[in-house]
Amino acid sequence: MPCQDSDAQLPPRHGGVEPSGAPARSTPGGIPSRCDAPPVAGGVASQLLPQSADFATNVSQLRISEIFYSLQGETSRIGLPTVFIRLTGCPLRCAYCDTRYAFSGGQNYSVADILKQVAEYAPHYVTVTGGEPLAQKNCQSLLIALCDAGYEVSLETSGALEISEVDSRVMRIVDIKTPASGEAGKNCWANLSLLTQHDEIKFVLCDENDYRWAKQILRQHHLDKKCAVLFSPAHGTLNAAQLAEWVLRDRLPVRMLLQLHKLLWNNAPGH
Ligand code: SF4
Repeated sequence: MPCQDSDAQLPPRHGGVEPSGAPARSTPGGIPSRCDAPPVAGGVASQLLPQSADFATNVSQLRISEIFYSLQGETSRIGLPTVFIRLTGCPLRCAYCDTRYAFSGGQNYSVADILKQVAEYAPHYVTVTGGEPLAQKNCQSLLIALCDAGYEVSLETSGALEISEVDSRVMRIVDIKTPASGEAGKNCWANLSLLTQHDEIKFVLCDENDYRWAKQILRQHHLDKKCAVLFSPAHGTLNAAQLAEWVLRDRLPVRMLLQLHKLLWNNAPGH
């Protein structure tokens, strides 16, 4: 069960309309929108094709904001060439959110379409991100299909929705939202008991109060014993050198990270 109503704030599944101000997607294959396809459930396709895993891959639809190839900007895989699949929609509204363009818009793709597009980059690593990817129920099908295709798959999630259904082959990057994010009340604390050494926890910190709060949560839940813990300063809000001094002063067992894509490309779309 999700920690909250996961579909409550998703955009309507109409359209094929690009989000206003959204980045141009890097689409080597030029995969067309599925919005013009006829309805599948009960339609001609479902009468002709077997109800197999392949069939599910062909008909499972997701709303996608962008698919692009770049360097991993955070986590322990920082710097690795990676294909990013950004799913549309998020039930949170973090104060520092830098992907607001993914709250709505996007285009519908089948899992098969997404796999085809990802394959054109011939990547080793694939990251499913958002928005909040788990807010779309077909995200699970996508993750399984990507793992089955042989990719090293990671999932970036807000930590507001339950992660228990995520395929165990997927590396889960789970945020814990801090007070200054404005969304700390949505943290799904039950997720902490589900984490393994394969996963990572991430705090994005906005100020000293956030830092103190995160330090307390770290110690209270022995987070560093569960998996790697990442502390990252909110870009343009918390001075990175200051955060580094706090982490060193308190000898915290965390990894401090700066977001590589912001240093390289100033968070330009498509990176
Ligand atoms: S969870 Fe992520 S995508 Fe959603 S509002 Fe927060 S920062 Fe933005």
